[in-house]
Amino acid sequence: MYDPKSVKAEEFISHEEILNTLEYANSVKDDMAVVDSILEKARDAKGLSHREASVLLACENQDKVNQIFDLAFQIKQQFYGNRIVLFAPLYLSNYCINGCLYCPYHRNSDIARKKLTQDEIRAETIALQNMGHKRLAVESGEDPVNNPIEYILESLDTIYSVKHKNGAIRRVNVNIAATTVENYRKLHDAGIGTYILFQETYDKAGYEQLHPTGPKHNYAYHTEAMDRAMQGDIDDVGLGVLFGLENYRYEFAGLMMHAEHLEAAFGVGPHTISVPRVKPAHGVDPLSFDGGISDELFAKLAACIRIAVPYTGMIISTREGKGVREKLLRLGVSQISGASRTSVGGYVEASEEDTRQFEVSDTRTLDEVIKWLIDMNYVPSFCTACYRAGRTGDRFMELCKSKQILNCCHPNALMTLKEYLMDYAGAETSEAGEKLIEKELDTIPKEKIRNLVRKNLANIQNGQRDFRL
Ligand code: SF4
Ligand code: SF4
Repeated sequence: MYDPKSVKAEEFISHEEILNTLEYANSVKDDMAVVDSILEKARDAKGLSHREASVLLACENQDKVNQIFDLAFQIKQQFYGNRIVLFAPLYLSNYCINGCLYCPYHRNSDIARKKLTQDEIRAETIALQNMGHKRLAVESGEDPVNNPIEYILESLDTIYSVKHKNGAIRRVNVNIAATTVENYRKLHDAGIGTYILFQETYDKAGYEQLHPTGPKHNYAYHTEAMDRAMQGDIDDVGLGVLFGLENYRYEFAGLMMHAEHLEAAFGVGPHTISVPRVKPAHGVDPLSFDGGISDELFAKLAACIRIAVPYTGMIISTREGKGVREKLLRLGVSQISGASRTSVGGYVEASEEDTRQFEVSDTRTLDEVIKWLIDMNYVPSFCTACYRAGRTGDRFMELCKSKQILNCCHPNALMTLKEYLMDYAGAETSEAGEKLIEKELDTIPKEKIRNLVRKNLANIQNGQRDFRL
């Protein structure tokens, strides 16, 4: 039985409720009065239920689809303005005991195995700092012998301890396998930002086929991971499905139900939602799964997520190329990775034996990505202020839902961009960035804040670092 407050996976992600939702969405998707009433509700920017959002996703009327895109853009402007947060993944180890069929790190893969030593992690961190990164997402396969929690914790300590020139990694998000409440508490105490875990697919039968072996085979344990993370005091969690594995409408409804569950059970929805699509990798052919998600459909999925959960950050990685990223930035994405290496040790040198988890589609340097964002009038942001100021979980959500967080995000974006321009940018990026900062300063509504930001920008120019609101 469907119960968003339940602690049991099969009750808060009810298969029956998803099937009923899909049937309902199919039955009303051509009824424009119903679609219009959902769009009307969505204009309040307070979100939609999984059933309402599923109707929008199913609707194929081109005029309404255009309205969905326009509304997603408006909601994104309201909650996020024009700033885009940058991050990079850091792969620690590709040892893994799971059998995920879509991932080249699965236990039977003949891919080269590598695990970074602490010295190698230090070197990778310096390479990332030298590009200008301040925010990382740590990635590791599941292997209690090679990658125990102690290894992850030690690696986090190492990353946070490296201060190279003006560089610093100020926030490390962690994407490791589902674990125990005790281990989540250890990650919390180690000062992680968001705990990220992709569900991959919400369809239990499909999930069990795609994960034939290893601890990840246990659907309930994996699906209830965010509940355990919350119990371990991690109150910023990041959801995601791997689009292209199973029926996208099913996945979308499941994803929305997962968000509703977190809100109902803990009073805090997901901090972020990632939208990865299956990509080619060593021994992995995306066409062998459910089939491709076209770029147009992918854009519609992103727009529907933006409308359904306006307060949740949306992440797109370099799995996607420049064109798709550009489109999705407009429709709701608020965070992107830049200059990513998806191999273990790839920032210091592309390893002789390729250990990549997937092929990167956007291969530009971070400076090229920053310049591209500036040219499109986005403000690239290296802000990490919230969790460092204790604005996490419900405290963060309250500020986000009331849109007050924008009063911090925009000034912080300008100050962290200034740091980037001073320390890492090429000449063209620097010139374009300075002009953008000058223009954006005028849009800060409160004079007091504007003056403070001006003062801090001058301090950054004079060599000081790390100002934040
Ligand atoms: S997706 Fe994660 S758990 Fe599965 S094989 Fe790859 S690294 Fe291991
Ligand atoms: S102020 Fe908070 S929400 Fe805004 S960009 Fe910085 S860390 Fe993110």
